Amino acid sequence: MPSTPRTASLLALPLASALLLTSCGSDAAAGGGGSPGGGGTDGSDGARVQVAASFYPLQWVTQAIAGDRADVTSLTAPGVEPHDLELSPQEVGEAVDADVLVTLGGFQGAVDAAAEERGDAPVVDVAPAADLEETPGTPAGGPSGDEHEHEGGASDAEEEHEHGLEEDPHFWLDPVRMSSVAAAVADGLSAADPDGASTYAAGLAGVQEELTALDDEYSTGLATCASRDLVTSHQAFGYLAERYDLEQRGVSGIGGEAEPTPARLAEVADFVRAHDVSTIYTETLLSPAVAETVADETGASTAVLDTLEGLTDASPGDDYPSVMRADLQTLREGQGCS
Ligand SMILES: [Zn+2]
Repeated sequence: MPSTPRTASLLALPLASALLLTSCGSDAAAGGGGSPGGGGTDGSDGARVQVAASFYPLQWVTQAIAGDRADVTSLTAPGVEPHDLELSPQEVGEAVDADVLVTLGGFQGAVDAAAEERGDAPVVDVAPAADLEETPGTPAGGPSGDEHEHEGGASDAEEEHEHGLEEDPHFWLDPVRMSSVAAAVADGLSAADPDGASTYAAGLAGVQEELTALDDEYSTGLATCASRDLVTSHQAFGYLAERYDLEQRGVSGIGGEAEPTPARLAEVADFVRAHDVSTIYTETLLSPAVAETVADETGASTAVLDTLEGLTDASPGDDYPSVMRADLQTLREGQGCS
């Protein structure tokens, strides 16, 4: 392996990794003794920066920026709702011991706790770059004008407790926000691993080119549509709606778990009839029962949009860009776009 200049520069990494690892976790006390810590830092994996990302879109963007220079894992397993993530002791260890942790601060309490345990080890919190809002793309009045009022006291408090965020976390469904987050991730990787800065800069350029193309496709694809009302079962598409001039009307709250009340369902059904909404969107990680209830009652049809919270076998693509493009196709059909 140590035969090319590129590999030679990578050989400097195990030292950096060991230094990072000794600043946290149980090896900290042994740091002065020069213990490599963590194990495996001399093996083939040791040549790569070990990054833990808190959920899939952050894993994708980080891996795309870092390329072969890093191994990026997701703390949220495929098919698991990231909203109320719990971490096993092994996953906590992964989050604490990784060379770099990439996360949306405030979104997942278990990851926030692990981030605190890292001491001074690098944590990239993308929240500032994601520019979160409370109710993006969601008009006042009508269904979901204020979802906090619809949940009822107890479930409202419960939801906020679960998510830890007042704001809508789903920034990744807006390619423009995703591009700002990509820049923050590249900065964080470069700060943690300065020798890789040129790799991360090149990776970022490629990722941002892809995200700009995606943004252009969405702008064009959703420019002229029969309906601009986006009726969804999980209000994950607020940033997307805001970006592309749609109005999100949720059937349940922002959180994955919220069960809508009968009054809320009736309100949405009225809205669907009054606005001639032809398609209600459900999503891959949640039961479509709620949307189907409204659809049955109103004669609308349902279609599946992927929230990209985690890839599964049911996902309509195998990475972030391909699933985003599949969602665009679904939206174009459901909204009657020309
Ligand atoms: Zn969500």
